[in-house]
Amino acid sequence: MPPDHFARTPQPKNVIALESICGFVYAQQNVVLGNAVGYSAWRILKEGLTGNSGWKPVWRDPDPKPEYDVVLIGGGGHGLSTAYYLARNHGITNVAVLEKGYLGGGNIGRNTTIVRANYFLPGNSEFYSHSLKLWEGLEQELNYNVMMSQRGVLMLCHSDGQRDAFARRGNAIRNQGDDAELMSTEEVRRLMPYLNFDSPRFPIYGGLMQWRGGTARHDAVAWGYARGADRRGVDLIQNCEVTGIDVRNGRVTGVQTVRGEIRAKKVGIVVAGRSGQVAAMAGMRLPIESHVLQAFVTEGLKPVIHHVVSFGMGHFYISQSDKGGLVFGGDLDMYPSYAQRGNLPQAEHVMEAAMTLMPMIGQARLLRSWGGIMDMTPDGSPIIDRTGIDGLYFDGGWCYGGFKAVPASGFAFAHLIATDRPYETAEEYRFDRFRTGVNLLDEEGTGAQHNLH
Ligand SMILES: Cc1cc2nc3c(=O)[nH]c(=O)nc-3n(C[C@H](O)[C@H](O)[C@H](O)COP(=O)(O)OP(=O)(O)OC[C@H]3O[C@@H](n4cnc5c(N)ncnc54)[C@H](O)[C@@H]3O)c2cc1C
Repeated sequence: MPPDHFARTPQPKNVIALESICGFVYAQQNVVLGNAVGYSAWRILKEGLTGNSGWKPVWRDPDPKPEYDVVLIGGGGHGLSTAYYLARNHGITNVAVLEKGYLGGGNIGRNTTIVRANYFLPGNSEFYSHSLKLWEGLEQELNYNVMMSQRGVLMLCHSDGQRDAFARRGNAIRNQGDDAELMSTEEVRRLMPYLNFDSPRFPIYGGLMQWRGGTARHDAVAWGYARGADRRGVDLIQNCEVTGIDVRNGRVTGVQTVRGEIRAKKVGIVVAGRSGQVAAMAGMRLPIESHVLQAFVTEGLKPVIHHVVSFGMGHFYISQSDKGGLVFGGDLDMYPSYAQRGNLPQAEHVMEAAMTLMPMIGQARLLRSWGGIMDMTPDGSPIIDRTGIDGLYFDGGWCYGGFKAVPASGFAFAHLIATDRPYETAEEYRFDRFRTGVNLLDEEGTGAQHNLH
């Protein structure tokens, strides 16, 4: 751990230089391999000097073919990463991603971009640990700047009991092989002097820091995976809503879309907040409810919040974007809905929590707010599983935390579709836990440990 944590916030120049060199080398490899040219410092220089006339669309715009080996329904983060890893890890490239709107128009472009691997319970911890490792190499992997910023994620605690619970969680995270540091009040104060430490209701007793956590640019992640999948031959088909799933004799045979019928040997449902609607097309009723989650951003400010701060007791979290906006949010709107916008009482609640934690935020002007549809499972953990229909697979139930899961989810779902076996980090994400009650995976890791009952 470096002595001066603030020194970690700006991207060091030598890292930028190193990334540029890596990008350059990668681009040259692509030229040698005859692929489309990658991004590099050299390319930016050349385009800058030649009127930016050489850039090409980042992915093709193909018409759907009559048949594919695999059709993925949903062009969000998870659908695109699944397509990428199907091609990259399993050589399955006769794949279509069908997206009803535009790529990245769903939750992948609406979240607050927090990436972390600080889960408590086995089942979740190894999955998110894998995801964080994939995040750490993602820019090199995709040759795309996803603006991964490991600025540290701090969960605040406000009582002795909560601090004890965080100590246990920190030990579990370390046992998993990831980093966790229990901080005292004074250590937190040194990092975040702007917090209200002496609030009578929520005095700050310290917190649990994960330095490898942070943020990444959400839509760049979608674009990076889209570009990578397209370059490996995957068809990304936008404005192609799936309206039906064809099943014959217990086996999936294809899908109906607004652009006609498409036959498929295998179909993956990866539609996040629309999971219930799409699964119903195959006659399935899921243990999932869709709820709205809102987020807010202020006008651009000078750098003031150098980390991600989570105030769980107040249902509030915040970070500062590279453009300077304070990006923050709270809890669900708490009623089922497919509307991608939130209600005012929840907005008021979030503002109150913000003022409680950091009264200085009252000086900032709110720029905009938005909402996304969350696919909530009863235990807060996701599902990556086969369905009762041969050839039909499901990935969803990401709740309000699926952005950080995008790399590992795609990796695991591609493995499941390709091999019909769960990937080792996702073995617990089965449907049957909701039927049997065995191995329920309380996402927060509070209360009774269901998976031991
Ligand atoms: C305000 C907010 C803040 C969040 N903050 C965080 C965070 O900080 N960290 C974190 O880890 N997670 C966060 N999340 C959660 C995260 O964004 C989601 O869990 C994740 O993005 C969901 O997966 P996805 O990217 O595949 O979803 P989406 O991007 O929603 O992809 C699903 C796609 O399926 C498409 N689709 C739906 N129906 C059909 C159909 N019939 N035919 C074809 N296509 C269809 C949709 O158009 C959509 O593009 C947040 C979410 C919100 C809304």
